[in-house]
Amino acid sequence: MASLSLVLTLGLVAALANLAGGLLLLRRGVQRYLHAFIAFGAGFLIAVAIADMLPESFQQAGAAAPLLILAGFCGVHILEHTLIPHFHFGEETHAHEFLHAGAAYSLTFGLAAHTFFDGIAIASGFAFSGNLGWLIFAGVLLHKLPEGFTVGSVMLASGRGRSLAVGAAALLGVSTLAGVVVIRVLPALAHYGLPISAGVALYVAATDLLPEVNREHGLQYRLLFLLGVAVMLLCTRLP
Ligand SMILES: [Zn+2]
Ligand SMILES: [Zn+2]
Repeated sequence: MASLSLVLTLGLVAALANLAGGLLLLRRGVQRYLHAFIAFGAGFLIAVAIADMLPESFQQAGAAAPLLILAGFCGVHILEHTLIPHFHFGEETHAHEFLHAGAAYSLTFGLAAHTFFDGIAIASGFAFSGNLGWLIFAGVLLHKLPEGFTVGSVMLASGRGRSLAVGAAALLGVSTLAGVVVIRVLPALAHYGLPISAGVALYVAATDLLPEVNREHGLQYRLLFLLGVAVMLLCTRLP
């Protein structure tokens, strides 16, 4: 198993990337780069989920793997899109969806539940192999900036101030770190954590990130998605 300090440090880096995403909101003109980032990150994450997390999940959880993967997939669907009426990645421009005071907060908690499994994914990956851990870390890290940006922009759209916007992004980071700590304290849970977070990763990449990319015009976004897949596959073949 990878050292505690390494896994905690990587969890912290992922958490800080959430915060950085929230801070990016305060800068103008980042939207264009954000979509390029989401496109590449979606490709990388879906490739990690399908090519590495799924096979390892079947290895570690055996016959229970399919149901655990499905539980992760459906769980994040319930948290992000069933309990919450309006959620999508990228800048929030539909302020009318957030007239009800609690809507922005429930969205933040739904997204924090998703980021908890980002942390579970990283620590579970490292519980089984260093390579898997690093690949999952990269897949998670690549969508951390957009995640922080998204939750921050929801706060602003709902009429909250900048400090709450950055605070919501920070909360996603704390939740990520909590997921890492849970697996390090109870390593036996990694057998369930990996397949569940594989389902979460599949859902996030295919239904949250990719549609956001596909809404954008421009061939470069299609190619960046495929580049993300290709780079991830190349990484797994490095000696
Ligand atoms: Zn919206
Ligand atoms: Zn995430």
